[in-house]
Amino acid sequence: MQWSFDIRSGLLVGALLTVLIGLLLAVVARAMSPAFRPAMNWWVAATLLQPTGLVLLSQRDQLPAWVTIVLANAFVAGAFAAYAVALRRFHRLRVPVLGLGAALALALAASVWFGLVVDDLTWRLITISAVLAGMLGYSAWTIYRGPESRGLVRHVAGGAFVAATAIMAYRAMALLWDPGLITGIFQLNHVQLLSYGVGSVLPVVATVGFLLLCTDRSQRELARAARVDYLTDVYNRRAIEELGTRAIAGARRHGVSLAVQVVDIDHFKRINDELGHAAGDLALVQAVARIRECLRAEDVMGRLGGEEFIVLMPDTDGASAVAAAERIRQAFSDRPLDLQGERRKVTLSIGVAVLAPADRLFSQLLLRGDRAMYAAKHAGRDLVMADAMSGWDTTAAD
Ligand code: GH3
Ligand code: MG
Ligand code: MG
Repeated sequence: MQWSFDIRSGLLVGALLTVLIGLLLAVVARAMSPAFRPAMNWWVAATLLQPTGLVLLSQRDQLPAWVTIVLANAFVAGAFAAYAVALRRFHRLRVPVLGLGAALALALAASVWFGLVVDDLTWRLITISAVLAGMLGYSAWTIYRGPESRGLVRHVAGGAFVAATAIMAYRAMALLWDPGLITGIFQLNHVQLLSYGVGSVLPVVATVGFLLLCTDRSQRELARAARVDYLTDVYNRRAIEELGTRAIAGARRHGVSLAVQVVDIDHFKRINDELGHAAGDLALVQAVARIRECLRAEDVMGRLGGEEFIVLMPDTDGASAVAAAERIRQAFSDRPLDLQGERRKVTLSIGVAVLAPADRLFSQLLLRGDRAMYAAKHAGRDLVMADAMSGWDTTAAD
């Protein structure tokens, strides 16, 4: 059986598929978080530029050389630059405008010089392949070096760009090795078939990979939003109850103690009443930052609601937890908060409780911490109180 493959038809089919998947992406982009919009727009631009370049390329011998060589290569190189920009923006990394611009200029200069001035297909393909390999490799590097793309998902787009980089680099090297390898643009050999793959298959696979990156990120952001307090960026009540339950199990298993601090801002309502709700919000954010400064890396902080916070202190006994609470209290009473230029002294009432043998549920430990905090309120505020049932009964307040 005779097998034949027509590069020209292949290019056109590839171009059509790329446009279709680009349009699909443009539609899907509308349902995605607006945060993805800039990256998505660049990607859609790439999926329109590349097929345009391929269609022009396929018109060799029908249209003038400056269209089918210079313009076609400019579109393809522009598309690969646009993929790179999309990936940089997606990862919230700096876009190297100069570097990408220089690569584009180089591709353009090579296609003008080796296409129009001296007609040299071999050197045209070598230089352009090298430039494209550089841009594709940069995209691959961005995906794998991206600050947050983890897991399997990144290998779809990443793998596509790595393969495309390798193919383009291989084409340049194969032509350096054997300058007579490609004598016509539609000539069918393994190098040409592989390059055709970069033109036609890469956009489809890479676009699917890019969509996967986007959905993966939104899913992770949603999962995070469900666990983190929007205003203060500490765990919300639901998450802290889960973490507290886990911390109790961990403490029991390892035979170590577990302490909690329940921290409530004193007379917080007055801040809202006197300076406005926005200043109140700012006070909450700043208070969290100041409390965190006093904590160890393994301490876990959450917002129980309003202006009430909890700190889980693994492997910490009562005396150490009280000492830490005292440091936090002092950090507030020593130094006022700066609320939009308004300096305001804010004090805290802190209740400390330690896991007791009788505690089965996290809510029991929390309740004792809460009671100690209310005891501090009743005793005059700006105080640390330890829960009497926690097995030691010092009040660390001064
Ligand atoms: P106490 O010393 O007894 O703790 O008095 P307090 O004023 O701090 O406590 P109270 O529970 O009476 O008031 C808490 C206030 O916190 C009431 C509520 O409007 C305010 N608040 C709760 N959540 C937020 C928030 O997210 N932002 C702002 N700005 N205020 C909040
Ligand atoms: Mg309060
Ligand atoms: Mg309160």
